[in-house]
Amino acid sequence: MSTKQRVYNFNAGPAVLPEDVLLEVKEELPVYDDIGTSVLEISHRSPEYTAIASSAEERLRRLLGLGDEWHVLFLQGGASLQFYMVPLNLLPRDGSADYLITGSWSKKALKEARFVGNPRVAASTESTQFDRIPAPGTYTIDSQAAYVHFTSNNTIYGTQWPREPETGGIPLVCDASSDFLSRRIDIDRYGLIYAGAQKNVGPAGVTVVLIRQDMLERRHQPLPTLLDYGTHAGRIYNTPPVFAVYIVEKVLKWLEHMGGLPAIEARNEAKAQKLYAALDASEFYRPHAQPDSRSRMNVTFRLPTEELEKRFVEEAKEQGMIGLKGHRSVGGIRASIYNACPPEAVDALVAFMKDFEQRYG
Ligand SMILES: *Cc1c(COP(=O)(O)O)cnc(C)c1O
Repeated sequence: MSTKQRVYNFNAGPAVLPEDVLLEVKEELPVYDDIGTSVLEISHRSPEYTAIASSAEERLRRLLGLGDEWHVLFLQGGASLQFYMVPLNLLPRDGSADYLITGSWSKKALKEARFVGNPRVAASTESTQFDRIPAPGTYTIDSQAAYVHFTSNNTIYGTQWPREPETGGIPLVCDASSDFLSRRIDIDRYGLIYAGAQKNVGPAGVTVVLIRQDMLERRHQPLPTLLDYGTHAGRIYNTPPVFAVYIVEKVLKWLEHMGGLPAIEARNEAKAQKLYAALDASEFYRPHAQPDSRSRMNVTFRLPTEELEKRFVEEAKEQGMIGLKGHRSVGGIRASIYNACPPEAVDALVAFMKDFEQRYG
């Protein structure tokens, strides 16, 4: 693999990975360390895999400042299975939990919770095509709620909570799939965080779940073995996605070398600012998200016609920029600029946008 063949990748997920990680994986694929075989061909109970998984866990703990009260799980089934696992474990049969609905993924989470009990919609921005995050003071939280579920970044619509929602002390449960480890968070506000790895921390096939001990203790019993968080806390129950965890470990190492969350947050902020500044400077491009709700991970916008949008995507591709087509439910353009997206990719996109507008605007 040579560097010059890699394009600028704006895919929403699975998405760009740090090139250094890919090269390291390539290098050690046939023979890992000194074991004479690849990491794909060893037991998940071997000392080598145990070391990889422990290292991934330790790096996560360092990056997020997780105390001993937090469990780190590497599960399968995607973020989508968490939509059901969360309420199955934590939604009281005779009680409630609050859901903040800011896009398609939140709606899916709500739908699964309804299989278990009676979740309450505390706020929804669907009436304005999910172009915003509910403003503080426009919604109230049920003081009896077992948890408050929110989607920190709305991958499809391109909105992001600027900070954690206020809950009056009720623990947050967060689907952080598309902005996990992209910025600092107030960890004490959370009871559980889940994230499919394939947007911001690795390849498809593993879902990171962080759960606090007191939440774990609160879960229903008994539950089907694999769907019970308790099965996975502190031990490996069945075969984990070994290769995906191995790559996640490398991405976390890369993130630590980059300077951790404060540094990546600054880099992400700068990338997003550049792109939004280009959008705001033009009448040709129309951003979907309201300014105070804009995502630093997925930047969504429209062009004057669908014809031009199609041409934009095609011409960008010819110039080495892929993955810019918006989600089918919103249309338009979406540039996903996750942690591993280099600033040069954004510079190239901004230059292309200016040129495209000059030619077609
Ligand atoms: C992609 C995505 C999901 C779905 O993840 P899967 O791993 O495919 O189940 C859920 N929530 C958000 C916010 C996402 O971006």
